[in-house]
Amino acid sequence: MPRLDIDLIPVLRDNYIHLLRDPDTGATAVVDPAQAEPVEALLARRGWTLTHIFNTHHHDDHTGGNLRLKAATGCRIVGAGADAHRLPGLDIPLEDGDAVVFGGTTLRAIATPGHTLGHLCYWLAEDQALFSGDTLFSLGCGRLFEGSAAQMWDSLSRLAALPGATRLYCAHEYTQSNAAFARGIEPGNAALAERCAEVEAARAAGLPTLPSTLARETATNPFLRADHPEVRRALGMAEAPAAEVFAALRRRKDVF
Ligand code: ZN
Ligand code: FE
Repeated sequence: MPRLDIDLIPVLRDNYIHLLRDPDTGATAVVDPAQAEPVEALLARRGWTLTHIFNTHHHDDHTGGNLRLKAATGCRIVGAGADAHRLPGLDIPLEDGDAVVFGGTTLRAIATPGHTLGHLCYWLAEDQALFSGDTLFSLGCGRLFEGSAAQMWDSLSRLAALPGATRLYCAHEYTQSNAAFARGIEPGNAALAERCAEVEAARAAGLPTLPSTLARETATNPFLRADHPEVRRALGMAEAPAAEVFAALRRRKDVF
Protein backbone atom coordinates (compact mmCIF):
# COMPACT_ATOMS: atom_id res chain seq x y z
CA MET A 1 0.00 0.00 0.00
CA PRO A 2 1.41 3.40 -0.92
CA ARG A 3 1.90 5.59 2.12
CA LEU A 4 3.09 8.77 0.47
CA ASP A 5 1.42 11.52 -1.49
CA ILE A 6 3.72 12.63 -4.29
CA ASP A 7 3.39 15.99 -6.08
CA LEU A 8 5.33 17.46 -8.97
CA ILE A 9 6.43 21.10 -8.77
CA PRO A 10 7.53 22.34 -12.22
CA VAL A 11 10.37 24.87 -11.97
CA LEU A 12 12.94 26.56 -14.22
CA ARG A 13 12.58 25.58 -17.87
CA ASP A 14 11.89 21.88 -17.54
CA ASN A 15 12.82 20.69 -14.02
CA TYR A 16 10.53 18.93 -11.57
CA ILE A 17 10.92 19.12 -7.82
CA HIS A 18 9.08 16.22 -6.20
CA LEU A 19 7.22 16.79 -2.95
CA LEU A 20 6.73 13.72 -0.73
CA ARG A 21 4.31 13.70 2.17
CA ASP A 22 3.50 10.94 4.64
CA PRO A 23 0.02 11.88 5.84
CA ASP A 24 0.28 9.56 8.87
CA THR A 25 3.42 11.08 10.38
CA GLY A 26 3.65 14.49 8.73
CA ALA A 27 7.09 13.73 7.30
CA THR A 28 7.60 16.00 4.29
CA ALA A 29 10.43 15.95 1.77
CA VAL A 30 11.48 17.38 -1.53
CA VAL A 31 13.67 15.62 -4.04
CA ASP A 32 16.14 17.89 -5.88
CA PRO A 33 15.00 21.39 -4.92
CA ALA A 34 16.35 23.45 -7.80
CA GLN A 35 14.91 26.52 -6.11
CA ALA A 36 13.63 27.27 -2.60
CA GLU A 37 10.85 29.75 -3.34
CA PRO A 38 8.34 27.49 -5.13
CA VAL A 39 8.79 24.88 -2.37
CA GLU A 40 8.30 27.46 0.37
CA ALA A 41 5.20 28.80 -1.33
CA LEU A 42 3.59 25.37 -1.66
CA LEU A 43 4.49 24.33 1.89
CA ALA A 44 3.06 27.57 3.26
CA ARG A 45 -0.20 27.03 1.35
CA ARG A 46 -0.54 23.54 2.78
CA GLY A 47 0.74 24.36 6.26
CA TRP A 48 3.44 21.69 6.09
CA THR A 49 7.01 21.77 7.45
CA LEU A 50 9.88 20.32 5.46
CA THR A 51 11.70 17.50 7.26
CA HIS A 52 14.03 16.15 4.52
CA ILE A 53 15.72 17.02 1.26
CA PHE A 54 16.87 14.16 -0.95
CA ASN A 55 19.46 15.09 -3.58
CA THR A 56 20.14 12.77 -6.51
CA HIS A 57 23.29 14.63 -7.56
CA HIS A 58 25.25 17.83 -7.14
CA HIS A 59 24.18 19.90 -10.16
CA ASP A 60 22.76 23.36 -9.38
CA ASP A 61 19.39 22.62 -10.93
CA HIS A 62 18.97 19.89 -8.27
CA THR A 63 20.51 21.53 -5.19
CA GLY A 64 20.00 25.30 -5.68
CA GLY A 65 17.37 25.50 -2.91
CA ASN A 66 19.20 23.32 -0.35
CA LEU A 67 20.73 25.91 1.95
CA ARG A 68 17.83 28.33 2.05
CA LEU A 69 15.33 25.54 2.78
CA LYS A 70 17.57 24.08 5.46
CA ALA A 71 18.08 27.48 7.11
CA ALA A 72 14.33 28.10 7.13
CA THR A 73 13.19 24.67 8.32
CA GLY A 74 16.11 22.76 9.87
CA CYS A 75 15.37 19.90 7.47
CA ARG A 76 17.98 17.18 7.03
CA ILE A 77 19.73 16.87 3.68
CA VAL A 78 20.34 13.39 2.29
CA GLY A 79 22.70 12.58 -0.58
CA ALA A 80 25.77 10.72 -1.75
CA GLY A 81 28.61 10.59 0.75
CA ALA A 82 30.99 10.51 -2.22
CA ASP A 83 29.76 14.03 -3.09
CA ALA A 84 29.92 15.48 0.44
CA HIS A 85 32.28 18.19 -0.86
CA ARG A 86 29.79 19.40 -3.46
CA LEU A 87 26.32 18.76 -2.02
CA PRO A 88 25.39 21.96 -0.16
CA GLY A 89 24.44 21.29 3.48
CA LEU A 90 24.66 17.48 3.34
CA ASP A 91 23.70 15.91 6.70
CA ILE A 92 23.11 12.24 5.92
CA PRO A 93 25.71 10.75 3.56
CA LEU A 94 24.67 7.57 1.79
CA GLU A 95 26.32 4.79 -0.14
CA ASP A 96 24.81 2.29 -2.54
CA GLY A 97 22.17 0.21 -0.75
CA ASP A 98 21.81 2.46 2.31
CA ALA A 99 18.29 3.13 3.53
CA VAL A 100 16.78 6.23 5.13
CA VAL A 101 13.65 6.07 7.25
CA PHE A 102 11.19 8.72 6.11
CA GLY A 103 7.97 8.87 8.10
CA GLY A 104 6.54 5.37 8.05
CA THR A 105 8.50 4.19 5.05
CA THR A 106 12.02 3.73 3.74
CA LEU A 107 13.93 5.18 0.80
CA ARG A 108 16.80 3.09 -0.46
CA ALA A 109 19.76 4.62 -2.32
CA ILE A 110 20.85 3.01 -5.58
CA ALA A 111 24.21 4.26 -6.85
CA THR A 112 23.90 5.04 -10.56
CA PRO A 113 27.16 6.54 -11.82
CA GLY A 114 27.13 7.93 -15.36
CA HIS A 115 25.58 11.42 -15.52
CA THR A 116 27.75 12.21 -12.49
CA LEU A 117 29.95 9.77 -10.60
CA GLY A 118 28.11 10.19 -7.30
CA HIS A 119 24.57 10.05 -8.69
CA LEU A 120 22.02 8.27 -6.49
CA CYS A 121 18.49 7.18 -7.31
CA TYR A 122 15.98 6.68 -4.51
CA TRP A 123 13.74 3.65 -4.50
CA LEU A 124 10.62 3.24 -2.39
CA ALA A 125 9.82 -0.47 -2.39
CA GLU A 126 6.54 -0.15 -0.50
CA ASP A 127 5.25 2.78 -2.55
CA GLN A 128 6.65 1.35 -5.79
CA ALA A 129 8.27 4.63 -6.79
CA LEU A 130 11.71 5.53 -8.12
CA PHE A 131 13.25 9.01 -8.10
CA SER A 132 15.76 8.77 -10.89
CA GLY A 133 17.15 12.32 -11.06
CA ASP A 134 19.13 12.73 -14.28
CA THR A 135 19.96 9.03 -14.73
CA LEU A 136 16.79 7.64 -16.30
CA PHE A 137 14.33 9.92 -18.07
CA SER A 138 11.11 8.85 -19.70
CA LEU A 139 12.21 7.66 -23.17
CA GLY A 140 15.75 8.89 -22.49
CA CYS A 141 18.70 9.02 -20.12
CA GLY A 142 21.10 11.62 -18.77
CA ARG A 143 24.17 12.85 -20.59
CA LEU A 144 27.51 11.37 -19.59
CA PHE A 145 29.21 14.29 -17.86
CA GLU A 146 31.44 12.30 -15.49
CA GLY A 147 30.97 8.57 -15.93
CA SER A 148 31.58 6.21 -18.84
CA ALA A 149 28.98 4.67 -21.14
CA ALA A 150 29.72 1.28 -19.57
CA GLN A 151 28.99 2.67 -16.10
CA MET A 152 25.75 4.25 -17.27
CA TRP A 153 24.60 1.07 -19.00
CA ASP A 154 25.25 -0.78 -15.78
CA SER A 155 23.33 1.83 -13.79
CA LEU A 156 20.35 1.77 -16.17
CA SER A 157 20.32 -2.03 -16.13
CA ARG A 158 20.04 -2.00 -12.33
CA LEU A 159 17.04 0.34 -12.53
CA ALA A 160 15.42 -1.72 -15.27
CA ALA A 161 15.60 -4.78 -13.00
CA LEU A 162 13.29 -3.18 -10.39
CA PRO A 163 9.60 -4.22 -10.46
CA GLY A 164 7.79 -3.13 -13.63
CA ALA A 165 4.97 -1.48 -11.68
CA THR A 166 7.46 0.98 -10.16
CA ARG A 167 6.41 4.55 -10.95
CA LEU A 168 9.24 6.55 -12.50
CA TYR A 169 9.72 10.13 -11.33
CA CYS A 170 12.63 11.80 -13.11
CA ALA A 171 13.88 15.34 -12.67
CA HIS A 172 13.19 16.79 -16.14
CA GLU A 173 10.31 17.07 -18.58
CA TYR A 174 12.31 15.92 -21.60
CA THR A 175 9.86 13.25 -22.75
CA GLN A 176 8.64 14.93 -25.92
CA SER A 177 12.07 15.53 -27.42
CA ASN A 178 13.21 12.09 -26.25
CA ALA A 179 10.19 10.62 -28.05
CA ALA A 180 11.29 12.06 -31.38
CA PHE A 181 14.70 10.41 -31.03
CA ALA A 182 13.25 7.10 -29.84
CA ARG A 183 10.87 6.86 -32.81
CA GLY A 184 13.76 7.30 -35.19
CA ILE A 185 15.49 4.31 -33.58
CA GLU A 186 12.44 2.02 -33.35
CA PRO A 187 9.81 3.11 -35.89
CA GLY A 188 8.16 -0.31 -35.67
CA ASN A 189 7.69 -0.37 -31.87
CA ALA A 190 3.91 -0.23 -31.27
CA ALA A 191 4.20 0.44 -27.53
CA LEU A 192 6.47 3.38 -28.33
CA ALA A 193 4.03 4.78 -30.92
CA GLU A 194 1.27 4.60 -28.33
CA ARG A 195 3.41 6.32 -25.69
CA CYS A 196 4.38 9.07 -28.17
CA ALA A 197 0.71 9.82 -28.88
CA GLU A 198 0.01 10.03 -25.17
CA VAL A 199 3.00 12.32 -24.63
CA GLU A 200 1.85 14.66 -27.41
CA ALA A 201 -1.62 14.86 -25.89
CA ALA A 202 -0.31 15.48 -22.37
CA ARG A 203 2.02 18.26 -23.45
CA ALA A 204 -0.63 19.88 -25.66
CA ALA A 205 -2.84 19.99 -22.55
CA GLY A 206 0.02 21.43 -20.46
CA LEU A 207 0.25 18.28 -18.33
CA PRO A 208 3.37 16.41 -17.15
CA THR A 209 4.26 13.14 -18.89
CA LEU A 210 5.27 11.70 -15.52
CA PRO A 211 5.24 9.48 -13.67
CA SER A 212 5.95 6.77 -16.20
CA THR A 213 6.45 3.17 -15.10
CA LEU A 214 9.48 0.93 -15.43
CA ALA A 215 7.45 -1.61 -17.40
CA ARG A 216 6.56 1.06 -19.89
CA GLU A 217 10.14 2.33 -20.10
CA THR A 218 11.61 -1.11 -20.70
CA ALA A 219 9.13 -1.49 -23.59
CA THR A 220 9.77 1.94 -25.14
CA ASN A 221 12.98 3.64 -23.96
CA PRO A 222 15.80 2.88 -26.42
CA PHE A 223 18.43 3.46 -23.72
CA LEU A 224 17.04 0.50 -21.77
CA ARG A 225 16.78 -1.58 -24.96
CA ALA A 226 20.36 -1.60 -26.22
CA ASP A 227 20.25 -5.40 -26.02
CA HIS A 228 17.14 -5.70 -28.23
CA PRO A 229 17.42 -6.82 -31.88
CA GLU A 230 15.48 -3.85 -33.27
CA VAL A 231 17.73 -1.31 -31.57
CA ARG A 232 20.86 -3.23 -32.55
CA ARG A 233 19.67 -3.36 -36.15
CA ALA A 234 18.98 0.40 -36.21
CA LEU A 235 22.61 1.00 -35.29
CA GLY A 236 24.07 -1.77 -37.44
CA MET A 237 25.51 -3.45 -34.33
CA ALA A 238 23.87 -6.89 -34.35
CA GLU A 239 26.76 -8.62 -32.59
CA ALA A 240 28.21 -5.91 -30.33
CA PRO A 241 27.96 -6.07 -26.52
CA ALA A 242 24.94 -4.15 -25.21
CA ALA A 243 27.15 -1.60 -23.44
CA GLU A 244 28.68 -0.68 -26.82
CA VAL A 245 25.27 -0.39 -28.44
CA PHE A 246 24.25 1.87 -25.57
CA ALA A 247 27.39 4.00 -26.04
CA ALA A 248 26.61 4.44 -29.74
CA LEU A 249 23.01 5.40 -28.96
CA ARG A 250 24.13 7.95 -26.38
CA ARG A 251 26.61 9.51 -28.86
CA ARG A 252 23.89 9.72 -31.47
CA LYS A 253 21.50 11.41 -29.04
CA ASP A 254 24.19 13.92 -28.03
CA VAL A 255 24.06 15.41 -31.53
CA PHE A 256 20.36 14.80 -32.21
ZN1 ZN B 1 22.20 16.98 -13.78
FE1 FE C 1 19.33 18.27 -14.24
